[in-house]
Amino acid sequence: MKITFFGVRGSTPCAGLEHGQYGGHTSCVMAEAGDHIIIFDAGSGIYDASRIALDNPSKKIFLFFSHVHLDHIMGLPFFAPVWRSDFTVNIFAGSLAAYGGIQSFLSKTFIEPLFPVSFSNFPANIICQDFKPGTVLEISDSLTINTAQLNHPNGAIGYRLNYKDSSVCYVTDTEHLLDKKDDNILGLIKDSDLLIYDSSYADDNFAQYKGWGHSTWQEGIRLAQEGNVKKVAIFHHDPSNTDDKMAAIEKKATDQWSSAFIARQGQVVEV
Ligand SMILES: [Zn+2]
Ligand SMILES: [Zn+2]
Repeated sequence: MKITFFGVRGSTPCAGLEHGQYGGHTSCVMAEAGDHIIIFDAGSGIYDASRIALDNPSKKIFLFFSHVHLDHIMGLPFFAPVWRSDFTVNIFAGSLAAYGGIQSFLSKTFIEPLFPVSFSNFPANIICQDFKPGTVLEISDSLTINTAQLNHPNGAIGYRLNYKDSSVCYVTDTEHLLDKKDDNILGLIKDSDLLIYDSSYADDNFAQYKGWGHSTWQEGIRLAQEGNVKKVAIFHHDPSNTDDKMAAIEKKATDQWSSAFIARQGQVVEV
């Protein structure tokens, strides 16, 4: 599988020069697995995922929302396949049971005057599907997705993509408890190849953000080690972390565990 980080930032895009090394687009990660195009979240980074998606001969996209906070959906109208009537875009969400489901939410959100074309008039064949957290989604004979509830205001879902013998986990946005590991996450990530993890904060400033629904890079390493995960990608960077600060985090994290790395915008990882 080829994993591409098209957006790695949390909360808001930040395009200033001081974010140029690590990237300012918000959450979007693509997995290319055989003919499958799997995308996690439609943050501003999804704009840059358009070209690869358009080139895919299957003309089918599978898009999974962790949740629908603005930084995870804002790029959707700028993802080229939604403007192509020959494309099918399958959209999945598991955090919207209390809000009427994903189709209703997107139809009520991307509508005039926020955006000049309503979601229901996007030309692609868009198929929306809600699921309960914990459901296993069978995308094809060779590709399945496990799901798990995360700890985040308004809810969020963690995913594990399994393709042939490889697996990658996408776990953002979530807040950990200090006295107990999150069993939902440990169950999801066990023995996987790569964990992409909400690392908005660090252990030394975590206390001041209690209740904000995010975690730390140290917790990502602890979870990966306890879950026997091969590598952890530090992800969903706080916008206040400029390149200098990110470089310092990178040094500390890789010193602590050589299998940790900072996800950078545009980075490609094979699993
Ligand atoms: Zn977020
Ligand atoms: Zn969020």
